[in-house]
Amino acid sequence: MTDVIIIGAIAAVVVGYALYLKKKKDKNKEDYETHSNPEELVHDSGITLLPSKDIYLTFERIVEIYKEVELCTGLKAKGPTIEYVSYEKTLALNPEGWALYMSAGKRILINSDKDLSKTAEDQLLRHEMVHHLLSENGMSDESRGHASTLFNCGPGIDLHNGKVIRP
Ligand SMILES: [Zn+2]
Repeated sequence: MTDVIIIGAIAAVVVGYALYLKKKKDKNKEDYETHSNPEELVHDSGITLLPSKDIYLTFERIVEIYKEVELCTGLKAKGPTIEYVSYEKTLALNPEGWALYMSAGKRILINSDKDLSKTAEDQLLRHEMVHHLLSENGMSDESRGHASTLFNCGPGIDLHNGKVIRP
């Protein structure tokens, strides 16, 4: 009788561990999965994602991140347009740059030449979204500089030995 209970307990631990490993593997896959949208995507918030290829964040996640940044800053505005673009092929842009915000077009540009990750895209978008929210709320000077404490809601890219954090 005791043997049956012990074997049962061992089986439960083995199955539990196997399920844990599978869940971990699925999460891992999700973290490294990339997404493409051949068509422009538009959300009610105004967030627009221009056609992009092999990016780490889903459009749904980008929309969530914007809501998080709005909450964190306490500012609201119609969402920006986001474009992943090759800086090298766009002559006017500094190829060393990771991302930038253009207030005129209410547009966030992410440099698709960079070796990005899910974390890197998240960090870059948060930072540029703070620029957008400041700019759209009459704080253009604060948006141009980085002195505003609201940049704590999006400090920007965090590199380690020149490389982005993964996933
Ligand atoms: Zn900035």
